[in-house]
Amino acid sequence: MSQREWIEKDFYKELGISSSASQDEVKKAYRKLARDLHPDANPGDTKAEERFKAVSEAHAVLSDPAKRKEYDETRKLFAGGGYPRGGFTPGGGGGFSQEFNIGDIFGGAATGDGGLGDLLGGLFNRGGARTTSRPRRGADVETETTLGFREAAQGVTVPLRMTSPSPCTTCHGSGAKPGTSPRVCPNCNGSGVVSRNQGAFGFSEPCDECRGSGSIIDDPCVDCHGSGIQNRTRTITVRIPPGVSDGQRIRLAGQGEAGLRGAPSGDLFVTVHVSQDKVFGRNGDDLTLVLPVSYAELVLGTTVSVPTLEGRVGVKVPPGTADGRILRVRGRGVPKRGGGAGDLLVTVKVAVPQKLDSDAVDALERYQKAERSSGFDPRAGWAGA
Ligand SMILES: [Zn+2]
Ligand SMILES: [Zn+2]
Repeated sequence: MSQREWIEKDFYKELGISSSASQDEVKKAYRKLARDLHPDANPGDTKAEERFKAVSEAHAVLSDPAKRKEYDETRKLFAGGGYPRGGFTPGGGGGFSQEFNIGDIFGGAATGDGGLGDLLGGLFNRGGARTTSRPRRGADVETETTLGFREAAQGVTVPLRMTSPSPCTTCHGSGAKPGTSPRVCPNCNGSGVVSRNQGAFGFSEPCDECRGSGSIIDDPCVDCHGSGIQNRTRTITVRIPPGVSDGQRIRLAGQGEAGLRGAPSGDLFVTVHVSQDKVFGRNGDDLTLVLPVSYAELVLGTTVSVPTLEGRVGVKVPPGTADGRILRVRGRGVPKRGGGAGDLLVTVKVAVPQKLDSDAVDALERYQKAERSSGFDPRAGWAGA
């Protein structure tokens, strides 16, 4: 028989005994039921026949101490929230389907009294082994932040606000109004699962009354609406290294949630968004910049002061520089991880005047004539085309 079947079948209920029944009580309960339900005593009664099979199956496991122990442990592990097909949500908390996932999700979410892992463990592992109270590494935390272009390039220290679930401080995680406490669900006796027999098969489904939690809260806590969970916000200061690019995910070791019982903390993963800059662009470690120049500057050559991440630098435009040429200034780009920096790539781009006074127009017309007589033909390369 599979673990899955064990999880879904309540053998104690099948025999009408409690989970603490002695081996003798198991035997007695089985004998009585087997006698009552035996096919010989109920000819043609298919329901009785199914029950007889189910009771025999329950007895086969519970009468064997080793099997019973294994069965009990399996059920404990999956009790309540452990319905493996999912669809169960503790108090609207959001889609956990297995008890041990709850531990994974929250990890050491709560560093205070008991912790949410303990709380949920206590809630779902009714009387069972507190599997959640062993030391466990804290959960990894994901967050994101938006940096200015220069901040990202140069590195920055930013405060990050993070929200994570933790036990409600008002009800200490019970979900019940202070002064009241949750009661065991009478429909499922606290197991969170109810068995049904249909055709030849017995199967289990999450209890409707308690939505699989095993307990009922008559007077929900007003602050957490009965979920026992509150989102706690904390702010930490994080050093973002220089040179991060848009969309990059940075791992900050040990900055996640604290571990339970002295276990190491989880990691913090920060996805960085980088906003655009009016002047600079980036190409890996290289900083890019478009430098507007006049036609005369390109022809005659000049030195232009351009901004960098730190101060300014003089960029020499040689005489006869073509429009669109990229001039490289070494070491004035984005800082690199291992030291040093990329380059500053300056693209020259002619700015054409939209309006000139008559003196300038006259001069330009004279220049145009002189240019032709000096033999310059911008479309010389098209000869014959
Ligand atoms: Zn129930
Ligand atoms: Zn509460």
